[in-house]
Amino acid sequence: MPFRIANLRPVIHEAFETWALFSPFDFTETSIERIAQLRIGFYRWQHLNCPISFDGPDGVLAHAFYPPSGKLHFNADRIWAMDPERLMNTRESYDLQSVAVHEIGHLLGMGHSTVPEAIMYPSLDPQTRKVELHGDDIAGINAMYPS
Ligand SMILES: [Zn+2]
Ligand SMILES: [Zn+2]
Repeated sequence: MPFRIANLRPVIHEAFETWALFSPFDFTETSIERIAQLRIGFYRWQHLNCPISFDGPDGVLAHAFYPPSGKLHFNADRIWAMDPERLMNTRESYDLQSVAVHEIGHLLGMGHSTVPEAIMYPSLDPQTRKVELHGDDIAGINAMYPS
């Protein structure tokens, strides 16, 4: 894994909180395998039994499958940034939290949006941070899980 777990934890936590605010879900971290419903990790190329290979440094950034699969995998061969300074100064780097928020949307069952400003828009430019839900994302999650 390209990061220390202690540095990764708050970034992933924030990404989950972003969706928790607008959905009926509470997310709790656990390392107990048998109770975990979502699993997150960094992988390279063909990994586990995923249908999609990450294909090295030019492959997709990440993918996620909603439960019962419940997997969120990041491509360990991409350049990830967890702080704004590294993001700004590293060419072709991607903001981990931004990608995590998008992929967690998929974990919750969200599909892609056609609104470029939305978190669920299918692509993200490098060296760009987008971590706040857009009205389109909020409408989508509310439609899926009415309160
Ligand atoms: Zn995978
Ligand atoms: Zn996506």
